[in-house]
Amino acid sequence: MRPSILFPLFAEIRTLGGVGPKLEKLISGLIGPRLVDLVFDLPVGLIDRSYRPRLIQAEAGRIATVKVNVLDHFPSQNRKHPYRIRCADDSATLELIFFHGHADYLLRTLPVGSQRIVSGKIERFRDKLQMTHPDHVVAPEDEAGMPTHEPVYALTEGLTLKPLVKAIRGALEKVPAGLPEWDDPAFLKQRGWAPFTESLMAAHAPAHDADLNLETPVRTRLAYDELLANQLALLLIRRQMRAAKKGRALIGDGRLKAKAIAALPFALTEPQLTAIAEIEADIAAPTRMLRLLQGDVGAGKTIVAFLALLGAVEAGAQGALMAPTELLSRQHMASLEPYAKATGIRLALLTGRERTTRDTTLAALAKGEIDILVGTHALFSEDVAFADLGLAVIDEQHRFGVHQRMLLQGKGGRPADVLVMTATPIPRTLALTAYGDMDVSRLTGRPPGRKPVETRTISADRLDEVIEHLRKAIMRGARAYWVCPLVEESEKIDLAAAEERASMLKRVLGSKVGLVHGRMKGAERDAEMAKFKAGETQILVATTVIEVGVDVPEATIMVVEHAERFGLAQLHQLRGRVGRSSAKSSCLLIYHGQLGETAKARLKTMRDTDDGFVIAEEDLRLRGAGELLGTRQSGLPEFRLADLSAHADLLAVARDDAQLVLTRDPDLQSERGQALRTLLYLFGRDEAVRYLKAG
Ligand code: ADP
Ligand code: MG
Repeated sequence: MRPSILFPLFAEIRTLGGVGPKLEKLISGLIGPRLVDLVFDLPVGLIDRSYRPRLIQAEAGRIATVKVNVLDHFPSQNRKHPYRIRCADDSATLELIFFHGHADYLLRTLPVGSQRIVSGKIERFRDKLQMTHPDHVVAPEDEAGMPTHEPVYALTEGLTLKPLVKAIRGALEKVPAGLPEWDDPAFLKQRGWAPFTESLMAAHAPAHDADLNLETPVRTRLAYDELLANQLALLLIRRQMRAAKKGRALIGDGRLKAKAIAALPFALTEPQLTAIAEIEADIAAPTRMLRLLQGDVGAGKTIVAFLALLGAVEAGAQGALMAPTELLSRQHMASLEPYAKATGIRLALLTGRERTTRDTTLAALAKGEIDILVGTHALFSEDVAFADLGLAVIDEQHRFGVHQRMLLQGKGGRPADVLVMTATPIPRTLALTAYGDMDVSRLTGRPPGRKPVETRTISADRLDEVIEHLRKAIMRGARAYWVCPLVEESEKIDLAAAEERASMLKRVLGSKVGLVHGRMKGAERDAEMAKFKAGETQILVATTVIEVGVDVPEATIMVVEHAERFGLAQLHQLRGRVGRSSAKSSCLLIYHGQLGETAKARLKTMRDTDDGFVIAEEDLRLRGAGELLGTRQSGLPEFRLADLSAHADLLAVARDDAQLVLTRDPDLQSERGQALRTLLYLFGRDEAVRYLKAG
């Protein structure tokens, strides 16, 4: 149970004064539904109101705070004209401008003849000073209530700063006094860190731009605590999963594997053999396996997973292979079927769409008549029961959460071994945050049978050349992907852009152009993909839905529009869609507009290397918080107080700290241990606390 001291922070934001349904919707969409989300939403900027010029010296364009006398009101004559109020100090006049201003309200707050302090941006319009919609208007006696420095927070369409600031202030007032200290006192002293609450308040009250720096003691303290919660939770989950008595030894006799390997049209690579050996050792051990198989796109993870699954089947258990999408599970099914035939095992598919066969499949599964079940998250449904699930393989792990992993493990009575596969090469630091609870096998080196892809960057001004190049290639029978990215905020517009691009290419290049996008129904999309795979269409225009796992070896050209909007990891994934046959492949990265420094560096990295792990390290280095398209889909935990581009070094410290704590106090019973429980709850790691003996 969450400790009562945290209750106020977990109240919903609608309980705050001044937060009605509309504001609630905006805030929870952007930040989160609870007060704790608000207090963890740190400022991204600062308004300094300490500039207090006499009007005659006031510089246009600056935020100024001025003391004026109110002279006259000029109500607007019609809706187009603003309501104006003329004010002055002893040096010059200043006009306050209000669009759609309400007369009663303005007469009340700025009565003629009164003295007022107003703060806002000074503008000069035809030699006159003016201020449009002052941020603050107060009577001199209330001056103390006006802030001299105000934090600025990230906003979204429809959400303005003032109500958000007010909500955050309200939430900060609810931060409980007397939170226990969860960090080691000696460590705090060495770092010069203030208590958590004090640091949190300070983070929301920057007085100088330097205070917004991620390296300040205030920001690092907060980041550290979030990372500590993350590491502690991962260690607890790992410990739970490994609890030896719950594991099982699956020892196969190798007969099915031998048949499958004999049926392979290729020889397994060294890294594949190593990974298989590591997995087999884990599966055969009486402890529960929790292993991550990391390998670039095309590295050959599927066959590794399949051989591992065969091991489980040889030992008399069942296996599950889960993919994040319908399309991918069908693809897995198709590529595994020949091997299933060769080995005589029984393979079945379960997605949300197998309505007619679902009952039969489920019955067969429960009776143990299916050896390996392939599917989507439909495998997580309540009614799916295995006779004896021995090994679960989860492909493209980043679409699934820890919860789902746990859930699957609970299926079929005895706990299953888990192998997670990811094609996103993750830098070591990040691997710690996302997979700190797992052992790692890596399929390194260029994937078998892959060719280097010639990569060029090109400005959108030269789109004609790109199309000409494409035309020639198409005439030679080539197949190409053309990617138009979707940006969440304006999905509709982007989708329109992709449709427009598809019809433009159709006009210019003839009819063989297909289009797939995320809003299409599964079946529709599969049909388009199938056409492309069969060569009925030669160009496939796509939003980023082709990012994960699609396999069309005949495709040799990848065009990416708005390449500057993509993160490196995504560009790398996209490029990995080509270069899958013996033919020479190319990747054209089209950028729009002037490139910023970061985007330039990213595109250069793409030209310079095709090593996924190098690219991943660069990606982290170049990553600005929230800057990248699709960081949310990247599967890495989203930190709110920590920013790994600045705080990555704290992660290893937090991990050591967490490890030491759990060695000394395995169930967090000590005073610090109890405080750390509160920390876990504060960061929403409730599930991890459940693995502790009651405090
Ligand atoms: P990923 O790691 O992206 O899941 P896949 O398992 O889909 O990669 O493999 C990509 C392609 O490489 C498949 O067509 C697969 O049959 C092939 N492949 C896998 N292992 C080898 C190998 N050792 N030699 C040659 N081709 C291989
Ligand atoms: Mg794969």
